Amino acid sequence: MDEAERYRALVESMPALVCRFRPDGALSYVNRAYCTYFGCTPDELVGRDFFRFIPPHDRDRVRAKFEGLSATKPEVTYEHRVFDCEGQERWQRWTDRALFEDGELLEYQSIGYDVTAERKSKDELLHLSRHDPLTGLANRRMFDEILNQTWRLGARGKNRLSIIMGDIDFFKAYNDAFGHQAGDKCLRQVAAIFSTAVRRDTDLAARIGGEEFALLLPVTEDEGAKRLAESIRTGVSGLAMESAPAANKPVVTISLGVAGLIPTPEGGPEDLMNRADQALYRSKEEGRNRVTIDG
Ligand code: GH3
Ligand code: MG
Ligand code: MG
Repeated sequence: MDEAERYRALVESMPALVCRFRPDGALSYVNRAYCTYFGCTPDELVGRDFFRFIPPHDRDRVRAKFEGLSATKPEVTYEHRVFDCEGQERWQRWTDRALFEDGELLEYQSIGYDVTAERKSKDELLHLSRHDPLTGLANRRMFDEILNQTWRLGARGKNRLSIIMGDIDFFKAYNDAFGHQAGDKCLRQVAAIFSTAVRRDTDLAARIGGEEFALLLPVTEDEGAKRLAESIRTGVSGLAMESAPAANKPVVTISLGVAGLIPTPEGGPEDLMNRADQALYRSKEEGRNRVTIDG
């Protein structure tokens, strides 16, 4: 075995995916781990396009990484999705090196790892940090994030941004009468009404407090927001959940407040939240189980 063969044997036995390919993208070498990962033999891969396993939605981004390589910046690391030999979508992290000689690009050498588990736990952590575990709705943190972002984006346009805020009526009495577990079940049922009220991808339903919910409605006029709030109100009473005797009402109800504003760069979303909160307060004052529009 000469030196080159020994190095080759070493690369063959590596658990990382290793390949070399020409400037036109055609593979010239793949190691055993690479073949196993994609369920192909070396013959089936050598001469084929390196980009074939990269799904179209990631391909341009990866190509741009390659095009950015030069003799002075010959290395790049990035992550992209692939479909493995069983057709499962997975994530890989690659480090690619461009090999230059006298300023001329000879080939690329790439080392890749499967990072699906790492990506998944990162995504799960992110999801946990932004959602309420009891109801599965967005939590206050995510609501505030999206509200701020929507405000900033909307501040250049003329579209109204609306908020519906809702608070379950006499919920303390409900907990006292039926217990905390029954209270949790009630919260989940009300949350489901809010999530079915979401009509567009840009709408967001959130649990923003104990028994407080909110719906963020970009590009929505007051009339539309009012109709939606009314449908949430009737949706909750329509659940026909027995109410606590102390509430002196036949079923569990919700009070809602609606506010809308055209975002401006000078203003902030706090004003919108305060207005919705005040409208909700008026619904409580005026007897609960109702919708009040700000202004
Ligand atoms: P109002 O009609 O004025 O809204 O009165 P209320 O009793 O609904 O309001 P209050 O703020 O006095 O009580 C809210 C209750 O919500 C008190 C608290 O124990 C309950 N709560 C908050 N979070 C949870 C939760 O996660 N689970 C359960 N079961 N109860 C909760
Ligand atoms: Mg409350
Ligand atoms: Mg309440």
